Amino acid sequence: MQNIVLFGPPGAGKGTQSAFLVDHFGFVHLSTGDIFRSNIKGDTELGRLAKTYMEKGQLVPDEVTIRMLEDSANAHQGAIGFIFDGFPRTTAQAEALDQFLEGKGQSILGMLALEVPEEELRTRLAKRAETSGRADDADPKVIQKRIDVYNEETAPVAKHYQSQGKYKGVQGVGSMEEIFGRLSAAIEGLS
Ligand code: AMP
Repeated sequence: MQNIVLFGPPGAGKGTQSAFLVDHFGFVHLSTGDIFRSNIKGDTELGRLAKTYMEKGQLVPDEVTIRMLEDSANAHQGAIGFIFDGFPRTTAQAEALDQFLEGKGQSILGMLALEVPEEELRTRLAKRAETSGRADDADPKVIQKRIDVYNEETAPVAKHYQSQGKYKGVQGVGSMEEIFGRLSAAIEGLS
């Protein structure tokens, strides 16, 4: 099992690069943001709850998010490995993920962190708003809130993996192909 965390701030390119990595390595992609959005679309109870946080740029509470992630992973029993995108976003989520995987005799092989300057993130998210249809991309105040939440609550998650010797920073600026090349080389270097 090759389980990878693809990490980085909003707009770092996690979704785009996940699609390439799935094609190339055969991972199952688990994006908590995508799962929340599909629940919002389906007007489920979980979707209605998540929406109240997402539209403000806040994190959905850990308990709800962790349960949803575990249910989604359990639904893919035969997976050769997962690429976790947008999860874990808090240290409590990282600890829960370790425990969950440990219960299955698995672990995280590495965290690959896309590094992108904040100014570039704002430009990318504003551009993505033109096509994503995402309310949280359209409002500069919500974008700023998401970046602040990332810096305060999510960036510390890197330390969790650094302390396990599993953290790899990857430059997230350049063409999509260049970034994919860097990520693939980093994955091949994991053992
Ligand atoms: P994303 O698609 O990863 O940018 O996530 C969009 C929004 O979904 C975030 O701003 C949060 O409100 C919510 N979300 C996604 N993943 C998580 C998570 N792991 N923990 C808490 N909230 C999350």
